[in-house]
Parts: sequence; C-alpha cells; structure tokens
Amino acid sequence: MSTRQSLSHRVFSTIFVVAIIAILLFMIAGTAYLQSNLIESTRRELIEETDVVAAALEQTTGDKAFLDEVDLDDSRLTLLSSDGTVLYDNVEDPEDMGNHADRPEIRAASLYGTGSAERSSTTVGETMVYEAVRLSDGRIIRLAKPQESYVAIFARLLVPLLALGVVAAIVAWFAARRESRAIIAPLLLVDLDHPKDNLEHAYAEMVPMLERIENQRQELKRQMRVLADNDRMRREFTANITHELKTPLTAISGYAELIASGMVEDEADKQEFAHRIHMEAGRLTSLVNDILTLSNLDEAEHSDDAGALETLGSREPVDMARLIDSIYQRLEGVAAASDVTLSTSCDPVVIEGVPRLLDGLVYNLVSNAIRYNRPRGSVEVGCGLDGGVPFVRVSDTGIGIAKDEQDKVFERFYRVDKSRSKMRGGTGLGLAIVKHAALFHGASIKVESELGEGTTITVRFPGPFDGAAA
Ligand code: ADP
Repeated sequence: MSTRQSLSHRVFSTIFVVAIIAILLFMIAGTAYLQSNLIESTRRELIEETDVVAAALEQTTGDKAFLDEVDLDDSRLTLLSSDGTVLYDNVEDPEDMGNHADRPEIRAASLYGTGSAERSSTTVGETMVYEAVRLSDGRIIRLAKPQESYVAIFARLLVPLLALGVVAAIVAWFAARRESRAIIAPLLLVDLDHPKDNLEHAYAEMVPMLERIENQRQELKRQMRVLADNDRMRREFTANITHELKTPLTAISGYAELIASGMVEDEADKQEFAHRIHMEAGRLTSLVNDILTLSNLDEAEHSDDAGALETLGSREPVDMARLIDSIYQRLEGVAAASDVTLSTSCDPVVIEGVPRLLDGLVYNLVSNAIRYNRPRGSVEVGCGLDGGVPFVRVSDTGIGIAKDEQDKVFERFYRVDKSRSKMRGGTGLGLAIVKHAALFHGASIKVESELGEGTTITVRFPGPFDGAAA
C-alpha cells in the first residue's frame, strides 16, 4: 500500500534537519575556534616567558644552575647549541635526546632569531606549543607548553554542548512545526470554488495554478450554458414540431370527417374541402421533408460517422448556373402567380458540394424572396466568382427584414410574421436549412436588408472547385 507523503511533514523535517545540522556545525566550528584561541594565548604566554629567560641567560654565566632555578609552572625548557645539540632540558636527560636541528621552531630560530611550532604530542589529546629564541652566542632557548587537542576540548565540552544541542533541537522542533504549519496554511486555505478570491493571499508560485483553475471553471460554466441552451432549443424544437404537425393534421382530419359524415352535399364544397386536404397534406409533406433534411444535417455536423454523411448524398462538382436554372424552372410559375418577376444572371462557377443540399439552400432563398415580396416586385438570382470566391446571391424588392431580426430568422421555426408565413406555405425551417447547408459546405452568409425595400442574401463558398485537382 502506498503511503502518501505529507507536505507539512516534509517541510517540518527539512527545517528540523537543517536546524540540527546547523547546531552540529556550530558545535564543531565553536570547538575549533576555542582551541585556536587557547593555542594563541598559550603561544603569547610562551613568547613572554621565552623572552624573559633569553634575556636572563644573556647576562648569566652559570647557565645550568640558573636554568635549574627557573620556575616555570608546566613549561618545558630546553637549551640547544647552534647545531641543534641539546645542552639542557628540564624534563629529560639531554644525553637521551637526539639532535633537534631539524625541528621547525629550532630551524626558524637559528635562521630568523625566533621560531614557533605546534605538534601533536605523543600523549593522546595533547598538542605541544613551542617557542624558540636564538641567543646572541648562537645558542637557542626553547620553551614548550602542552595544550589540549581539539578532540580533548570537544570531549570536555561534549556534555554542555550536548545539553545546549538538546535545548536547541527542542526549540528547532517547535520552530519547525510552527513554520511548517505557517508555510502550509495558504495552501490549505485555498478555496477552489472561488480561486480568484485567493489570489491576494496566495504564494506567487500558486498564482498560475489558481488562474488556470479559474479559466477552467469559466470554460466549464460556458459549456454548461451551451448545453443548457442546446437542451432548451431541443425542447422548444420538439414542442414546435408537435405543434406544426398537429395543425395540418387537425385540418385534414376535420375536412375528411365532414366529407365522410355525408354532411357536405354540395359538390363544389366537397371539391373545396378535398382541395384543402390536398394543400394541408402538401404542407405536412414539406414540413416532414424539411425536418428530415435538418435532422440529417445536424447528424452530419455532430458526428464523423460516414453513414450520417451518406444520407445527405455524396459531394461532387456542382454547376451552380445549371442548378439555379433548374430552380428557376420550378419557381417561375410561383413567381408569376405572385406577380413577381424572377430573373437570373449567372457566370459559370463550379462548387464541390452535395447537390441536394445546395439545391435546398438556393431553393429556400429564392422561394422566400418570392413569398416575402410585394406585387410587381422582382427577384434576381446571381452566381459567379467574386475576387476568386464562388458566390450565390438572391436579391428581392420585398418587405425586408428588420436589423434585430436578421440573425433570428435563421433559427428553427422563427418567423417575423407567423400568419403571413403560413399563408404563403412556409414551414419556418427554410432559413435554418440554408444556414446548416452553408455550414456543411464551409460557406458564409451575409444578409443585407432594409424594411420595406428588400433583401439581398449572399452565400460565399470556400474556393472554386478545381477540376484538375479532382
Ligand atoms: P418560412 O418558412 O416562414 O419562410 P424561413 O426560415 O424560410 O421560414 O424564414 C424565416 C422567416 O424569415 C420568415 O417567416 C420571414 O418572416 C423571414 N424572411 C425570410 N426570407 C425573407 C425575405 N427574403 N424577405 C423578408 N423576410 C424574410
């Protein structure tokens, strides 16, 4: 089982270990400093004593008797000839002592007049400090004093140092605990639901993370809004479809019931009702077809599934001038019946697209331009290349669309004037199909319209179809 590492524990141990190491270093360095100080003061003492003895020797003749008389606490006194032979020593017999010429302090004294040295003594835990002075006759007088070694001083100080160390460690433990808690506190206090509110008190290193969380929260909120919008739109769409389907169905079943009950005797009335049934059935068919087209487009937009694309039809080069001509043939009669002049002006242009969708796109635009026109009005359908960009443009001299309605008319079932739309056989889905068919082909739509003057809708497609590439 993996044990998760605690940040506060880690911060605490780091601080504590650093404190303990600092205490130990202090103990070691402190001892070294103390020892060097002691050696220094011993040396100063020795220099003074050596100078005194040297001055006395310069004026004495009976050296040995004089030296025996000299009372030097724990100092060792040695008199050497200029060649390093020991003449006198207050501890050992000079006969037993070898030549001292190679001792650093003796060598220095014979060369420069004075010499110092310190050496670890044979006695464990001791360092001998030596001071030598050359007399005017070339002889050398040397005094030596033992001084506690580093290890001995450390051992002597160990108990008080340890006591101090323990106290320091306890203080360090509390300080480390307090500090580690203080360091962790801003992390524990972070309110991830409101990262922005923490920015002021957070560590600088935490700011990018908090900003990222805040951005992700905003993005999540935005996505939730989109989802909620989509959900609302779907519910509205379902309610609208139900309503739109019910209206012609109710009319159809009402007329059919009247005829079936035999209540309509007049032949002309019967024909009128049959005509109405036919009309409502036609509306129902258009509505179902439009709903199917939109649902296929939706599916193709939201999935990479090849099956969804297949239901729409395959992409192929589409000659737009020919497509517009075919639409002209189909709507010419409708335009004439509405007293609207329909004309086309097309330059040759080929677009790679799904013929059925491109047909639906242009058909709906032209059909709207005729239906929302005025008597003796006109509709002009154009296509071609505009600066190398393929376009289709439908202009009418109709009722126009107010500025604030120009986006809304592309929503499903949105109509500026519901009764006029129904009267003219509209389903409320025409421009929604135009929008999604354009989206499917990567095309853009531009609406230019003035109320009472007319509307021009231009659809621009990405790049002309390059036959050679195909
Ligand atoms: P409909 O089936 O009602 O025509 P559309 O989606 O095709 O539905 O159009 C939505 C609404 O946009 C229409 O009801 C109409 O009010 C308005 N509209 C569309 N085209 C034009 C146009 N060329 N001129 C004026 N209004 C238009």
